[in-house]
Amino acid sequence: MIAESRITELMASEVKRFVKGHPESHKMADRSSSSLLAGVPMPWMKRWAGPFPVVADRAEGGTIFDIDGNTYVDFCLGDTGSMTGHANAPISQAISVQTQRGFTTMLPSSDIAWVANNLSERFGMSKWQFCLSATDANRFSLRIARALSGKSKIVVNDWCYHGTVDETLVILDEQGKTVSRPGAIGPQVDPGLTTIAVPFNDLEAMEKALAGGDVACVLMEPALTNIGIVLPQPGYLEGVRKLTKQFGVILILDETHTICAGPQGASRLWGIDPDMLVIGKTIGGGVPVAAYGMSAEVGSKVESLMQGHDLDVSGIGGTLSGSAFAGAAMRATLTHALRQEDFDIAIPLATRWSIGVQSIIDLHGLPWTVQQLGCRAEYWFSEHPQNGAQAAASVNDGLESYMHLYALNRGILLTPFHNMALMTPFHSAPDVDKHTSVFAECVSELVS
Ligand code: PMP
Repeated sequence: MIAESRITELMASEVKRFVKGHPESHKMADRSSSSLLAGVPMPWMKRWAGPFPVVADRAEGGTIFDIDGNTYVDFCLGDTGSMTGHANAPISQAISVQTQRGFTTMLPSSDIAWVANNLSERFGMSKWQFCLSATDANRFSLRIARALSGKSKIVVNDWCYHGTVDETLVILDEQGKTVSRPGAIGPQVDPGLTTIAVPFNDLEAMEKALAGGDVACVLMEPALTNIGIVLPQPGYLEGVRKLTKQFGVILILDETHTICAGPQGASRLWGIDPDMLVIGKTIGGGVPVAAYGMSAEVGSKVESLMQGHDLDVSGIGGTLSGSAFAGAAMRATLTHALRQEDFDIAIPLATRWSIGVQSIIDLHGLPWTVQQLGCRAEYWFSEHPQNGAQAAASVNDGLESYMHLYALNRGILLTPFHNMALMTPFHSAPDVDKHTSVFAECVSELVS
């Protein structure tokens, strides 16, 4: 095992190196602290390695350039928002053309039906609605599920993440009670009243939760990705589908991150047909858009509710949703990115990354593992976890921060929340190999 004292000792010199290499970001951090809450525009930005965030100047393909003249291989890609590659030229071009043709009118544009058709072909859902974020898509899907079922509760996985949706910010405590997850501020009500959390890969717990008869829907990722990658055991997703059908509960799959599995997401790859499906972040090439789709059966029930004077305050929608600008961004993204040919480049890069990292782990005989899902890969300081609680227990904040800072100081950005790397078709084998050699150097120093 790696001693904490060794990490602390090495960390001090990495922090010095970081500060020395980022004078302009440092100045910007000092300036930002007077006007931005905690010095950042968004809380997650505090999670990057280093005493202050690197300030980005521009980003292109799989690369970020900062205001100090440093260049990074970007394996974070806006936590999936830029999985298409930063500033992907034909997408930028289409967006640029649309900026001359109006942004938002509250009328449908001709791109939107094309986008909905493309999403139907990919994901097999019959009817679509648009919004600005995956958070909203989940929130609206939950409202629809409660409206159709007349039931109040939802089921999610322990340690899930589906955006800042109140009912989903939960974990199981040691007594198996559903409680707010650490850090969730200001819930409207005790989330134990709205939500039942069940461990991933546990069909017995799922059955028990659904058997209560008060559940409107199950909202889940086909594989957990936000507490690290936890893959479904054989039969788990099929079992969830069977149970949700048996108890008449709507199954909503959130493919916002698992789109990394391929152009049709993980559910189609694995042959699971949900009743509703959420997709956000990637489908606008970085422009804030998201969509939620539903089966023909769910769609026709929802359509029967979409009538009358009070429709505009129905709890779903938003004036900027499905705008002409969003339509142009999504059409260009679905035309020029997220295609099979893009995954044919990105997935082998993730495999190369995984093999490289695993070889260093094996060389040192460390009890660590690597997990891959499509073009996403990550290393764990443990065996592969089978559920969210096991994944959470294996987190080692000190070691993780050190390894992230070490990589950052040598021109590599990993996703701040875990040891995760996401590939675009714009990354290359040398980018991946650079990570492998930096990882090798870092581990050698840690174990020496
Ligand atoms: N669903 C999943 C699976 C996510 O990973 C995330 C964000 N990480 C969201 C929803 C929320 O996305 P956004 O913050 O863009 O609303």
